[in-house]
Amino acid sequence: MRLDDESESNNVEDRRGDSGGGGGMGRVGGLGIGGVLIALVASYFLGVDPRTLLGMAETVQGAQRESPATQSQTRQTIDPANDPQAVEKREVRKILKKTETTWDALFQQMGRSYNPPVLVLYSGKTSTACGKGQAAMGPFYCPGDKKVYLDMAFFDEMTRRFKASGDFARAYVIAHEIGHHVQDEMGITAKTDAMRDKMTDVQYNKVSVRIELQADCFAGAWAYHSNRAKPFLDPNDVDEALAAANAIGDDALQRAARGAVVPDSFTHGTSAQRVRWFKTGFESGDLKACDTFTARQL
Ligand SMILES: [Zn+2]
Repeated sequence: MRLDDESESNNVEDRRGDSGGGGGMGRVGGLGIGGVLIALVASYFLGVDPRTLLGMAETVQGAQRESPATQSQTRQTIDPANDPQAVEKREVRKILKKTETTWDALFQQMGRSYNPPVLVLYSGKTSTACGKGQAAMGPFYCPGDKKVYLDMAFFDEMTRRFKASGDFARAYVIAHEIGHHVQDEMGITAKTDAMRDKMTDVQYNKVSVRIELQADCFAGAWAYHSNRAKPFLDPNDVDEALAAANAIGDDALQRAARGAVVPDSFTHGTSAQRVRWFKTGFESGDLKACDTFTARQL
């Protein structure tokens, strides 16, 4: 991925210096940071809905109530000169900028305007309109405040545990979350939320798979258009994204985590499905081709 001459998005909110309330940096809800990171990757890849996890997080927090003094957030700005994640942060800002440029153009073609989301970098946990956001949820999008939440430690874990490394694998994760924002802007999220109220969990899991695969397809469509407007992909980049998609299908993760596969609990789709839908978007660049909701075969 070549991003050297790319400009950086200003829509990044850096909360890494905040304690986020509770136990402070490095410890979340009584778990060591190592345990949190494992949970973080597992829950993201297993596709647990953030709201479900938020419910769990609230329970955990309620059970481990801290004194008011330690709950208050302390804001400490990270000194850019001494920021150990400065390179990663710059990369995130550049990828975000590329999503803004591309989706802005695509929305204009649809006769609409694109309202870019804010991407929040945080460390450990932070407040969101969807409740308390924790690193243990992995990257997620909150429709309530239209923000993408990302703890960059997640990228290290992707490389270490899931062998999903490479800069474009990271771009794919961000582009997938932006895909959820695009769904929100297009009114798709409102429709699926309405369906959720009338469904059992098992029924809604099937809808969730279609939501997630569409976000993968939108990520692919973004890569297609972004690269066409201004080539930035290296020959092995798409393989990186596909390897990441392949490593993080629900079936692969369940097999890795429990040695068995339970399709009813899938919320993100299988590895093969995730690869197929990223490719659908990437090869056609056609958003209509990303209609996973009417697709007969996923
Ligand atoms: Zn998703």
